[in-house]
Amino acid sequence: QNDLVAFIKDIVGDFNVKAKQKHIDLQFISPFKELSFAFDTEKLDKVLFNIISNAFKYTPDGGLIHVSILKNTDKIEINIADNGIGMNAEEKAHAFDLFYRGNKNISLGTGLGLALSQEFVTLHGGELTLNSEKDKGTTFKISLPIIETKQVLEEKSAMISTKIVHKFEDSESQ
Ligand code: ATP
Ligand code: MG
Repeated sequence: QNDLVAFIKDIVGDFNVKAKQKHIDLQFISPFKELSFAFDTEKLDKVLFNIISNAFKYTPDGGLIHVSILKNTDKIEINIADNGIGMNAEEKAHAFDLFYRGNKNISLGTGLGLALSQEFVTLHGGELTLNSEKDKGTTFKISLPIIETKQVLEEKSAMISTKIVHKFEDSESQ
């Protein structure tokens, strides 16, 4: 169990200096103060770090990068949106391929990041998808299932049995 809000705040905070230098409007938007659920911090850190680094690489000075979270009944969504150079159809189709580096003029990486990120998110039972428009920007969406850990389930069932015992005692005393 970890607090996703504090976790993302920390990661986004690590990019503050870079954002200042590039005059990028970097924001973390959360409707929650705290959001605890089971996730692998080490893996999610790598995924977010790569996606946010990509956003910085492919967003010109003065642009924006907004990280936000949403919660549904059974899953959590993390969106990383930029208004950078975007991708064409071919780049979109291959973005998650191993060693793919797109056909940008600038060659800025090894092309490993997104393939690994997708692998980690899939192993987590989630999905990593993208939406992009050439010269408009790119949004990555990480959706993760809210998994009930053994610990949480045990705490819940302990709470329920305590309630049942109390009810039983109440009816006994009447
Ligand atoms: P690495 O992450 O291994 O250093 P990389 O950043 O080039 O290298 P990926 O993270 O796998 O590789 O991304 C694959 C390709 O997808 C990039 O080379 C780039 O062409 C495209 N891409 C990724 N993120 C964005 C983005 N935010 N905007 C535009 N293009 C992007
Ligand atoms: Mg990358």
